[in-house]
Amino acid sequence: RAFVKVQDGCDNHCTYCIVRLLRGPAHSRPVADVVAEVRAFVEAGCQEAVLTGVNLGSYGRDLGLANGLHALIVTLLAHTDLPRLRLSSLEPWDLDEAFFGLWENPRLCRQLHLPLQAGCDETLRRMGRRITTAEFARLVEVARAAIPDLAVTTDVIVGFPGETCAAFRASYDFVAGMEFARLHVFPYSPRPGTAAARLPDQVPRQVRRARACAMRELGAEQASRFRQRFVGREMAVLWEQRRHDGLWTGLTDNYLRVVTRAEGNLCNRLTATRLLTVQNGYLVGEVIG
Ligand code: SF4
Repeated sequence: RAFVKVQDGCDNHCTYCIVRLLRGPAHSRPVADVVAEVRAFVEAGCQEAVLTGVNLGSYGRDLGLANGLHALIVTLLAHTDLPRLRLSSLEPWDLDEAFFGLWENPRLCRQLHLPLQAGCDETLRRMGRRITTAEFARLVEVARAAIPDLAVTTDVIVGFPGETCAAFRASYDFVAGMEFARLHVFPYSPRPGTAAARLPDQVPRQVRRARACAMRELGAEQASRFRQRFVGREMAVLWEQRRHDGLWTGLTDNYLRVVTRAEGNLCNRLTATRLLTVQNGYLVGEVIG
């Protein structure tokens, strides 16, 4: 997999975020530069490129492009032979329903990483997030309806300043209802210089830790259910490397981690694979083509 950074910086104002303070305003690379880089990766044998950026969804705004990311993806799919294109994290407010039409092209990986950060509207407001839980849920519903077998993954911060027991419970319950394919949980950690670090009602460290544990358990259960849905299915896997135990490990386009035992060299090969069972948190597959 090749990572292609298409923009840097961010114009949002999440109160906990140090990244935007360090990286400055959003700025994007010209489309032609990105296309040239992806073409070079394809010529070198690359099977998958991941578009990245601090605020990927804002791609092109500083260049005066309307729907810049949408247009960039269309261009990359039309003007390169890249087998798979994956998107990294996207702020949910940067997306609209039309965006999901891009997945009519099967080369676009069916994974959306949409940072939620909190499942409680009051906490979201204090975080400076530009979305409500209802808007987030609606967006995910539309995305799932448009993209079969989509993996929706997310980030959640627990123990944000002012997060009461009731607010944490609301956040937990919202996440429980969303059935994410993967959940990254971060106990809040104050970053000097950010607005959140100066907020009152900082949550004690042991409470943050306990909430992170509970949320991670929930995430593990959801990931397990997502994996289990695909047992018995045949899917394309891009194999990455052989692990120390001799098993090859790779990813489906919808971000399922698969392992298999094989004699030959599978590195960087995209193969049809039957998913047989789940063991130790991984799908076990059999290469069939
Ligand atoms: S959108 Fe991301 S990078 Fe931008 S301020 Fe919020 S957390 Fe930071």
